[in-house]
Amino acid sequence: MDNEGNEGAMGEESRQSWAIPIILLVGFLVLVVAVGVLCLVEYRSLPDNVGRVLTAEEQADVIAENSLLTDYVFLSPNADFPREEPITRITVHHMAGDLSLEELGNRFANRDRRASSHYAIDSAGNVALYVEEKNRAWTSSNRDNDERAVTIEVANDQVGGDWHVSDAAFDRLVELLVDICKRNGITEFTYTGDDNGTLTTHNMFNDQTICPGPYLSGRLGELANEVNSRL
Ligand SMILES: [Zn+2]
Repeated sequence: MDNEGNEGAMGEESRQSWAIPIILLVGFLVLVVAVGVLCLVEYRSLPDNVGRVLTAEEQADVIAENSLLTDYVFLSPNADFPREEPITRITVHHMAGDLSLEELGNRFANRDRRASSHYAIDSAGNVALYVEEKNRAWTSSNRDNDERAVTIEVANDQVGGDWHVSDAAFDRLVELLVDICKRNGITEFTYTGDDNGTLTTHNMFNDQTICPGPYLSGRLGELANEVNSRL
């Protein structure tokens, strides 16, 4: 009887020692399947026109829904489709570099960077579209702002120092701002120095950045006045 009792206890112990790895293994497999399903859902939820070269016809269709000033289209997957709030702001950024529109598009194509903007303007004054206005770009380190804003990256023709911007880029920025305001029902374009204005900047939301740089920062009041005079 004693022997049988011992054997019984040992059998139970060995069952228990098997049970824990099996529970862990099943738990791990459930986790792997869940992560796989989540990845698949996220992948499938991306529109089919992001992250790839578009045909001329597809580009024309996209431009027709956004700014007709657009010269170059490459749609970034780094965005929320669609945005959740109506457009009531425009946020001006500088590139912190003199990138071509293709180079910036390549950066925004990289999903690991988790960054994008709606538009960019190069130093020659050409305009790129990376995120359609109806979607939320990931630009300003602030979800609340980006839900409400169209964001624009402007190239610097001087790297460092004042982070100067070319006259061609500045003039095209005015035109693009006027166009975005008109199409989105923004009738007054205001710069208040904080997020109560229609014109916001990256450094309002992130004190670790000087974006949009000293040169553009010094011209924001003038920029708002010039846009307003054309609305
Ligand atoms: Zn910025």
